[in-house]
Amino acid sequence: MYAKIKSERLRYIRFNQTNLRAEECIHLHDAVNNNIDGNLNLNNIGNVFILPSSYTGSSRHMQEYIQDAMTYVRAYGRPDLFITYTCNPQWDEIKKLLLPEQTPIHRPDITARVFKQKLNSLIDLIVKHSVFGETRSWMYSIEWQKRGLPHAHILIWCVEKIRPEEIDKIVFAEIPDPNVDKELFEIVTKNMIHGPCGNLNMTSLCMENSNCTQGFRKDFVRDTITGIDGYPIYRRRNSENGGQSFSLKLRNMKLK
Ligand SMILES: [Zn+2]
Repeated sequence: MYAKIKSERLRYIRFNQTNLRAEECIHLHDAVNNNIDGNLNLNNIGNVFILPSSYTGSSRHMQEYIQDAMTYVRAYGRPDLFITYTCNPQWDEIKKLLLPEQTPIHRPDITARVFKQKLNSLIDLIVKHSVFGETRSWMYSIEWQKRGLPHAHILIWCVEKIRPEEIDKIVFAEIPDPNVDKELFEIVTKNMIHGPCGNLNMTSLCMENSNCTQGFRKDFVRDTITGIDGYPIYRRRNSENGGQSFSLKLRNMKLK
């Protein structure tokens, strides 16, 4: 049904190019000057159909969002936190609604809605309940991964900048202490451990030319290091320095 709606909208745009262009003459000049669409040159303007910014996904639509996002940066500087939020197909809210024989991939209608509701509560937690301190502004964009699950990239601007001594409370790349937070320990060990790859498993999907494309295994570091190229090296302590470890059972292998 949505494909029908979409083709109807495209038809409207095709037959109303004159109106749309007259209205957005300035933007047409912009398009010629900046050559946003890539295939535009002065000789064939008359043949190119221009999708207005009201058409979701068109380059003008994206361009408007980029401009809006840049306004935040111009006003507030660089964001303080970049948070990725991923849809977990094992969420009860999703599994409960699947019909027999279905997997979450068959039901983007369910995954999208559950994800959006959970994302809204996460944003509430950050913005209204100030878990990272008072928030000045925030934005997010939702992407669809190849396996059909949504994930969001969230940017947060805090009123008070995060100080170096606060980083360890907010982010680290370690296994949490099960005696302090059992639930977090289980989430991390179940969902956030990469591999095994490298010598242990050369056929892992992340392997390319005998190297892990994600850069694993990573070295242990005692403290988070920031400011090299925008990619911080997060605290990842070994057991001697207070880090945690756990055993992972994999078919015939046992790794520590
Ligand atoms: Zn890997």
